[in-house]
Amino acid sequence: MKNISIIGAGQMGNGIAHVFAQSGYSVTLIDIAQDRLDKAVATISKNLDRQVAKGGLTEEQKKSTLANIATATDMAAGVKAADLVVEAATENVDLKLKIFKDIDANAPVNCILATNTSSISITRIAAVTGRPAQVIGMHFMNPVPVMKLVEVIRGYNTTDAVTRTIMDLSTAIGKVPVEVNDYSGFVANRILMPMINEAIEALFQGVGGVAEIDTVMKLGMAHPMGPLQLADFIGLDTCLAIMRVLHEGFGNPKYAPCPLLVQMVTAGKLGVKSGEGFYQYTAGSKDLVVAEAFAK
Ligand code: NAD
Repeated sequence: MKNISIIGAGQMGNGIAHVFAQSGYSVTLIDIAQDRLDKAVATISKNLDRQVAKGGLTEEQKKSTLANIATATDMAAGVKAADLVVEAATENVDLKLKIFKDIDANAPVNCILATNTSSISITRIAAVTGRPAQVIGMHFMNPVPVMKLVEVIRGYNTTDAVTRTIMDLSTAIGKVPVEVNDYSGFVANRILMPMINEAIEALFQGVGGVAEIDTVMKLGMAHPMGPLQLADFIGLDTCLAIMRVLHEGFGNPKYAPCPLLVQMVTAGKLGVKSGEGFYQYTAGSKDLVVAEAFAK
């Protein structure tokens, strides 16, 4: 493994590029528009600065990490020398199926195709390619440079050899891989997302306010962040997409997304990335301020 192509330069894609480049791999980061790629590289640079300031990285290592990252808007060209592709585009089934058809048509035959999907079936994604044995889930956690876990998800046809390669690669970039099987939401989001959805439901029914619900979970359950703040951090659009996959995948009404979550996504309140969700976010401010819609 030498060349890693990453598709999607959003909050996950830039973090995945960061960790591979820091471990010495040659990274090609691909997105649909150059301005998104420029923003991603600026974010990586800022995050590396933070590591340098904390003493975890030298200025030289920062420079070599950035030098390991190239960008591309042409996906076919961007994957043609890849040993591994990690797809981290928007959580949308039709989009991911189209992307995997395109990658399959353009990446070398031995290339492993991984997806960072939070919930979509690996087996379903693999089925649109001509190499289902080489398709696997590589689910990083947010923020990628900080969080240790990689949930490695085997599709129905994924081979032992491909799984071993991805487990070993995850270890090589300083992560702790955990192997799981391919059912909607896998392990992480099957447990996390219904909890977040329930917190939104509790807010919707007026059981508690935003700050109260998050404080109960922080102080009562020792969670480092309350579920509503975490939802803002993940992105409410991503949370909704995952709930819909769970709902459809299991056909169980307990996974129905809360109407308030649906309403907020429709209104463009996506959390940190749009500037407002359950809290409001002002650039440069560290204070946690409840959004006006939920202020008492
Ligand atoms: P995001 O909205 O921040 O970024 C998505 C990026 O994909 C955008 O830059 C967009 O331009 C790009 N994109 C869309 N269509 C594309 C295409 N055809 N080709 C190339 N790029 C394209 O989303 P995100 O939070 O980074 O999530 C990305 C993936 O990671 C999703 O599958 C999500 O479920 C998963 N994930 C998210 C989190 C999280 O906490 N946000 C955690 C783990 C996994």
